[in-house]
Amino acid sequence: MNNKKNPLGIYVHIPFCDKKCDYCDFLSGPASKQTKEEYTKALLAEINAYKDLMKDYLVRTIFIGGGTPSSIESKYIQQILEAISKNFNLEPEEISIEANPGTLSKEKLKAYKDAGINRLSLGLQSTNNQELKLLGRIHTYEDFLENYHLARELGFSNINIDLMSGLPSQGVKAWEETIERVVALGPEHISAYSLIIEEGTPFYDRYGNQSEDDIDEHDNNEINEDTDRLIYSKTKEILEANGYCRYEISNYAKKGYECKHNKSYWERVSYLGLGLGSSSLIKDLRFHNEENLSNYIKNSSKPSLLQKDIIKLSKEEAMEEFMFLGLRLTKGVSKSKFHQEFGIPIEDIFLKQVKQSIQEGVLEEDNNFIRLTEYGLDVSNHVLARFLLSSP
Ligand code: SF4
Repeated sequence: MNNKKNPLGIYVHIPFCDKKCDYCDFLSGPASKQTKEEYTKALLAEINAYKDLMKDYLVRTIFIGGGTPSSIESKYIQQILEAISKNFNLEPEEISIEANPGTLSKEKLKAYKDAGINRLSLGLQSTNNQELKLLGRIHTYEDFLENYHLARELGFSNINIDLMSGLPSQGVKAWEETIERVVALGPEHISAYSLIIEEGTPFYDRYGNQSEDDIDEHDNNEINEDTDRLIYSKTKEILEANGYCRYEISNYAKKGYECKHNKSYWERVSYLGLGLGSSSLIKDLRFHNEENLSNYIKNSSKPSLLQKDIIKLSKEEAMEEFMFLGLRLTKGVSKSKFHQEFGIPIEDIFLKQVKQSIQEGVLEEDNNFIRLTEYGLDVSNHVLARFLLSSP
């Protein structure tokens, strides 16, 4: 009977961090003990309010992200997962939690394990303590190592490590050192994103509005596109040589350890966001939750009051998403799945874009799949933008 239900991913947002990192523009920040308690109560009220609303769905993955979920008491995480299991149909293949060194303990890790969490995602970013300081992180590499080994001792057998390349003054050699040290630890999954300097962050004030001349002349603070590409290829080379497969532009995993939850975003499986500011896709409806903390707490038991900017995607918009999300996966997009979902062959809609991209060597195709080439993965932003039908 459960097989007939639609698969669903649940994302739970914990918007707290002990300290804001200098590059971060996420919906997160420090908060008092009391605020964390009030927020958890509100989150539980929101989860309870979904009882009966999602009867036709079966939860296959849960991702507790942030912010720093490990910055709240572990009993809150247990309560959140208990509430989800009471109010949703649940057959989870994967329950992940994001955790940051400096906020973890043996007690917390044990509690996560007891609550059924089977995947740990650790935010490391760099193994170089100077770089961690530059980023405004609260931890050292040694703090991370302690947490990592503790998690292994307690039986976590599916661990992701988040890394960040392209830091000011980093250079390819320093990045290689980080990757090599992490590979030596043997995590099952590695996410390697490049730093994006967002407006409104201390990083932007420091590095964001320098002209290229300023950068080259004085600080060499921003790496250029060639260095960026060299970093991508070095990352791939080192990780593949060590048994990691690149399955998405920035994500690598050992066989069988791709993140199921994140994969479902790229494959447009329905997901429900719970908590402050979280986003949802339910069939063709996209919306996000209230972003103001007091309003969220006030209205948490009434999801309809929390949901903002509800958009029903047109068929055209859904087709665009199918392409620019699906092409992020190295296996590419399936032509037969497109036909099945939209009732029309992919070529009838995207022939021009596919043809041009194949000619330029950024896409390739076989009988059923269209995917980015190695070069296409390096310049993916430009290629993916072509699949916006409204773009010129
Ligand atoms: S720990 Fe993560 S979410 Fe929190 S401030 Fe740092 S980058 Fe942002």
